[in-house]
Amino acid sequence: MIIDLDANASYAPSEELRQVIVDSWNCVGNPSSLHRTGQRARAVIEEARESVRQLIDAGPRDTIVFTSGATEANNMLIAGCGLKGGRLVSSRIEHPCILGPLQRLKNQGKDVCLVAPTPQGAVSAASVMEYVTNTTSLVSVMSANNETGVINDLQGVVATVRSITPEAVIHTDASQLVGKGLFSMQSLGVDAVTLSGHKFGALTGVGALVVRNGIDLEPLLLGGAQEGKLRGGTENVLGILSLGKAASVVQRECGERIRRMQRIRDLFESVVCEAIEGCEIHGASVERLPNTCSLSIDGIRGDDVVVALDLDGILVSSGAACSSGKPEPSHVLLAMGLPEDKVRSTIRVSFRADQDPSIVGHVVDRLQRVVTRMRGKR
Ligand code: PLP
Repeated sequence: MIIDLDANASYAPSEELRQVIVDSWNCVGNPSSLHRTGQRARAVIEEARESVRQLIDAGPRDTIVFTSGATEANNMLIAGCGLKGGRLVSSRIEHPCILGPLQRLKNQGKDVCLVAPTPQGAVSAASVMEYVTNTTSLVSVMSANNETGVINDLQGVVATVRSITPEAVIHTDASQLVGKGLFSMQSLGVDAVTLSGHKFGALTGVGALVVRNGIDLEPLLLGGAQEGKLRGGTENVLGILSLGKAASVVQRECGERIRRMQRIRDLFESVVCEAIEGCEIHGASVERLPNTCSLSIDGIRGDDVVVALDLDGILVSSGAACSSGKPEPSHVLLAMGLPEDKVRSTIRVSFRADQDPSIVGHVVDRLQRVVTRMRGKR
């Protein structure tokens, strides 16, 4: 049996959603076709758009653009804001699909500032304030970090930015928070939100960029008139269907999912710290996603633990999924000021809501054996 403790890399669709996807093959068609097959596909997309709107409490006239995922949504948003000029402010702990486009703009001579996190891994409103000026065109701060799970005080960030400049677009990459926490675009007052379907139970390869009514968006992909001319290319109908269905499930069950995730994650943390000496949980004293544990264990290498646990059928990661296998240590943990040996001895364990707490004993037992073996070799 495989125990998947890597939900932040991809939260695979539930059995129920898989069945819905299989039963929906007849929806596949070109949503731009005028005939019945096309119109059925169109209806699927519009239904999904409403489910996404409700999930994140976007306004009735806000724009929801379906994309190939959070990477495309973030690239689109940043490329569009970069055209406007002015300062672009973000943080050092963002996902590479924010940092990469910002670095490119910086190389082109744009004014880009990256805020450092606190030692606990949070981006504070006070630190954002140091960089925001009345010429700032974009402030982008992630809702929750994918590696540590630390949740940022977006309400504070929005209040701070608005007090300095009402003009700046305030964006949040909510890829990791949605599905694991409550999120309301209207209550927060952010202008733009990025979502990734496979982080909350939909298929991979689908996501969305949501922008407040009145904010201009620039298309990244030019082509046909799909998505209100904002994203050319025939839509990924089944992916969008899965996104809409997952959004409805998450919205309906969010409270229960959060409770279940928190129960198993907290149990894991108390058992592992009791069983294995030299454990440290990053961001433990601040608000975190209920399912995420970023754990360093003295005397081991995270990458080696990932491989060893995989042989036991237990899936974890040594950082963000897209950076595993790369020799570089986590930019997030380094930005928090952790020494490189601690960063390299870190694993990320991220739970699903449908996992049974009874697996914790087995997981910690296996982890303990792996750690003992590795420490013996030093
Ligand atoms: N943003 C965050 C915070 C993420 O964790 C990820 C994926 O790891 C992404 C963006 C990229 O998402 P996608 O795979 O949908 O492009």
